[in-house]
Amino acid sequence: MKYIDEYRNHEVVKAVSQAIHKISEKYISVMEICGGQTHTILKYNFEEYLPKNITLIHGPGCPVCVTPVSIIDKAISLASRNDVVLVTFGDMLRVPGSVGDLLSAKANGKDVRMVYSPLDAVKIAGDNPEKKVVFFAVGFETTAPSNARSVIEAKKLNLNNYYLLCANMLVPPAIEALMNNKNVKIRGLLAAGHVCTVMGLKEYEIIAEKYHIPIIATGFEPLDIITGIYEAVGQIEEDRYEVVNKYSRAVSREGNLHAQKLIELVFDKTDKEWRGIGVIPQSGLKLKDEFYEFDAEKNFILDGIEVREPKDCIAGEILQGMKKPADCISFGKICNPEHPLGAPMVSPEGACAAYFRYRQVQQ
Ligand code: SF4
Repeated sequence: MKYIDEYRNHEVVKAVSQAIHKISEKYISVMEICGGQTHTILKYNFEEYLPKNITLIHGPGCPVCVTPVSIIDKAISLASRNDVVLVTFGDMLRVPGSVGDLLSAKANGKDVRMVYSPLDAVKIAGDNPEKKVVFFAVGFETTAPSNARSVIEAKKLNLNNYYLLCANMLVPPAIEALMNNKNVKIRGLLAAGHVCTVMGLKEYEIIAEKYHIPIIATGFEPLDIITGIYEAVGQIEEDRYEVVNKYSRAVSREGNLHAQKLIELVFDKTDKEWRGIGVIPQSGLKLKDEFYEFDAEKNFILDGIEVREPKDCIAGEILQGMKKPADCISFGKICNPEHPLGAPMVSPEGACAAYFRYRQVQQ
């Protein structure tokens, strides 16, 4: 299949890995930001391809994983109301809150529905005028444009029963938080190709310059990733720090201007809490005041929920690349995909789920 098979060609991947062996001398850590990239790295066993002096560490780019317990509790609280239909993506149903998850709420008769697009939630609102329909919006810059579109559509249709519970996060402020954390040692970054497709590369140029770190826009197939690593290693060996686009079949420097305009039209930046990490300044989105009537947090009473983080879950350290899933005492024992303790074991992009799927035998 075009754009897939050629990026999984083992011989070409091996040739690039041999080139990395030739240029690599320093002991360095390179972080892949996106959980999709983490899964490829585990699936294709990249450790075999790379010299021992290069460590790959996994970043916070799994939207389900970084959604904090506090907002999942709010979604569960909304779902418990008889007048609410709680709508979200399938990934979110099994993410544990302080008590239970949305799937349990559904099993207990609450109206929780799974959709593939926020516009489906708008349709549910139109079809059910007697109900309040809340879309639990998670994700990074990739999902923000369609979430914004849903609010514009609801306004156009004069719906007064559609709300957004907004947990949209922004990647660059999280990268800055990692760079400012003295416990995190990163010399190169593989930026998430799909986020760059929407936002372009300009924000990353500022970070590369500020922290003297190469940032490579990288796709998700094995050849994308090994090429991204080659570029990062080459720059580090030569003490360079540039933003380079190795995903040019999807990413341009400007990004998708139409999608960026939608985000700017509907959302403002705000401080957001990240699971296990804490509040990162200006790292998320909230609805602008002019869209007040669509903001679930402003139209429902959601205060007073006692938040309980799962005990023995080190998701925060894993999401910052300070530890790996195998370092967690719960991994594969009391925490597994059937009974996840934390979000990184639930999401198809979660690092713990990736290690469980591809590495559990070696634990
Ligand atoms: S293995 Fe489970 S308990 Fe441990 S960090 Fe991952 S999600 Fe949390």
